[in-house]
Amino acid sequence: MPNAHILAGLIARLHDPQYARWAAQIRRTGGCRQPIHLRGVVEHYDRATGRLLHRYSTHREPDGVLRVPCKTRRASRCQACAEVYRADTYHLVRAGLVGGKGVPESVASHPCLFVTLTAPSFGLVHTRRERNGKVLPCHPRRNAATCPHGRVISCAARHGADEECLGEPLCPDCYDYTGSVLFNATAPELWRRFTMALRRHLAKLAGLPFKDFAAHLVVSFAKVAEYQRRGVVHFHAVIRLDGPDGPTSASPDWATLDMLAHAVRHAAAAVTVTIPAINGEPARILRWGGQLDIQPISLGGELTDEAVAGYIAKYATKAAECVGTLDRRITSAEDLTALPIREHARRLIAECLRLGSFEELADLRLVPWAHMLGFRGHVSTKSRRYSTTLGALRAARTAHVRAEQIGTGRLPLFDEDTVLVIARWEYAGRGLSAGDAILAAAITGTPLPSPTNPNGGES
Ligand SMILES: [Zn+2]
Ligand SMILES: [Zn+2]
Ligand SMILES: [Zn+2]
Repeated sequence: MPNAHILAGLIARLHDPQYARWAAQIRRTGGCRQPIHLRGVVEHYDRATGRLLHRYSTHREPDGVLRVPCKTRRASRCQACAEVYRADTYHLVRAGLVGGKGVPESVASHPCLFVTLTAPSFGLVHTRRERNGKVLPCHPRRNAATCPHGRVISCAARHGADEECLGEPLCPDCYDYTGSVLFNATAPELWRRFTMALRRHLAKLAGLPFKDFAAHLVVSFAKVAEYQRRGVVHFHAVIRLDGPDGPTSASPDWATLDMLAHAVRHAAAAVTVTIPAINGEPARILRWGGQLDIQPISLGGELTDEAVAGYIAKYATKAAECVGTLDRRITSAEDLTALPIREHARRLIAECLRLGSFEELADLRLVPWAHMLGFRGHVSTKSRRYSTTLGALRAARTAHVRAEQIGTGRLPLFDEDTVLVIARWEYAGRGLSAGDAILAAAITGTPLPSPTNPNGGES
């Protein structure tokens, strides 16, 4: 039940003479939980005469501001905007598989694989696996060894899908926290080296000098990082072979699915990143884990284009918070024991802060990315010529909204060539007050933010 203060805010909003206008703004944010407030002016001038044709100011909007969607990709921050991002990512990935959004349908005939690159093991963790619909015991060991910390390294439990221990080490003191955060920190570089090795190996298999490779073949990809429960990232990627002009050009006949699979296997096993020795600890060589999953994507096959696009889009809106860390930056000065997180995440964060203090590892920027458990890459990325861009999809939507506003008489229709538009905007805060949030949820039919994570409240 909302308290008296919240209720008073809610009632005041309902009685505001500008309520209808406020509600219209909220409707246009599409249920954004933390809309950005903008203050500003837009003026339309006649280019020939300099005459002011139309002037819009937020001065007369409710509270003197325009509320626009936050456009975050992260579902933990705003469900509604993350859903827009997810849908865009889905269309972007799918266009690269079957065409559409400016990509020809012939792209569907190009060799294309769905590849999962994993992290190596950093110690045994509680897991849930199923075989033939039955849950298997976690790590059952007869006559299991006892680790140096006195723990028996065995677990015969058949874990439930939501059990908190999943992803947590059987012995936290044996677990290689250093390796785990260093792997996350170097994963983007491992990926970059993987794509280079992939091109080189394809050139070699084709008998082409590497410098001539791009004149015959372009390797396109779209990838997403998924956090495993143990707190390391895996990469899922669509990897496609195109002709020299990208998706519009057919790949050469010699570039087969088998050749691509072979080259992926070779490149994944070949690349490493070396971390220098620090503070008496030896140098480390980091590489992908031994589990490499390679599957063809086909229209009628087991793994469809819709499934792949859906999979990548789903993970594109997530981040490390899924493994129980925090959705904000953490500083070295902070008392980690006071953070409301699980012990495994706390130790991963502590390791980021510890390693981040070494000069030799400064490039890995482990302190600012401690809340991401060391991973500082983009969650989803694509090569330049994979398909369309999120920007293009957004522009198409903006143009659609503009056409609709002109159609409904909200925006005057001017000829763009003869009109000069001058806009001045400034940031004026974000979020909704608790009372406004209740009304906004009712207006847009979205769930109320949880009381522990109210997201803002300034106005
Ligand atoms: Zn939002
Ligand atoms: Zn277990
Ligand atoms: Zn141990």
